[in-house]
Amino acid sequence: MSAGIIDGKAIALRVREDAAVRTAALKAAGVEPCLAVVLVGEDPASLSYVTGKEKALAEAGMAGRDIRLPASTTETELLDLVARLNADPSVDGILVQLPLPKHIREDRVIVAIDPAKDVDGFHPVSIGNMVIGRPGFLPCTPHGVVVLLKEMQVKTDGAHIVVVGRSNIVGKPLANLLTRRDVNATVTVCHTGTKDLAEHTRRADILIAAAGKPRLVSGDMIRPGAVVIDVGVNRVEDPTAKKGYRLVGDVDFEAAKETASLITPVPGGVGPMTIAMLMRNVVESAENRSSRA
Ligand code: NAD
Repeated sequence: MSAGIIDGKAIALRVREDAAVRTAALKAAGVEPCLAVVLVGEDPASLSYVTGKEKALAEAGMAGRDIRLPASTTETELLDLVARLNADPSVDGILVQLPLPKHIREDRVIVAIDPAKDVDGFHPVSIGNMVIGRPGFLPCTPHGVVVLLKEMQVKTDGAHIVVVGRSNIVGKPLANLLTRRDVNATVTVCHTGTKDLAEHTRRADILIAAAGKPRLVSGDMIRPGAVVIDVGVNRVEDPTAKKGYRLVGDVDFEAAKETASLITPVPGGVGPMTIAMLMRNVVESAENRSSRA
């Protein structure tokens, strides 16, 4: 048996097209959705992420305010910038690309963003709203995973979903979203303190890997017929590749596709969904602005 491959790019495209249609309607009513994208320093992976986001904004017809700051920017300077963007009525969303240089405290910056413009969904208010089911922005990667499962019509109601990873941006919010009634799964969260990882992963109807460890999940850790979602994006050296490296997930894809029923590739699985859900959050924020006007 060979697993079906989940085409994250195609599903993401549909989400982005929907954002573009909603953007056109807003612009016709005189409101142009705008995301401020702030990059501090020159980390190559971060640079490629923000470039991807700016391209997606342009394709959806939204405005992007690109703000590039040197790595020497102080925490106070960055907080001042966030305050100015909070106060700017033409800005619907503020995205500060993480990670930030070591001398800037990320949590200080995240809490400084107005929750009404927190399109990354990282602010404690956004997280709190998510947990108790109030309206607010959902974090893009976990939300993207939920949309992928729904679009692929994977049966989640009553399913046992095992999430590997407990970070604030992926594992924790994802585990929370999966227990909502609209997904209705029973969730096990594994992490570095988990004793026998394979024992848990083998019991998963749906296995979601978000550990950031290449090939952490081998084929024999997957229950036959399981759905496998690989959130991991890891650079591994590859002298045959043009850039000297290639991207792999946390799952041994070749082995897993012989066991799983459905699987996401890396790249082209969860990654495109993250950007698509960001576009949806920005357009939603602009719709909120429009309805307040
Ligand atoms: P993180 O390093 O903050 O968290 C990783 C988590 O995995 C930790 O909670 C840790 O407990 C767990 N973990 C690590 N090694 C483990 C092991 N051997 N056994 C069990 N658990 C283990 O990373 P993150 O920010 O959550 O990102 C995870 C991965 O997802 C990374 O590869 C990252 O690049 C990728 N990512 C992808 C997207 C996307 O859009 N596709 C978005 C965000 C993150």
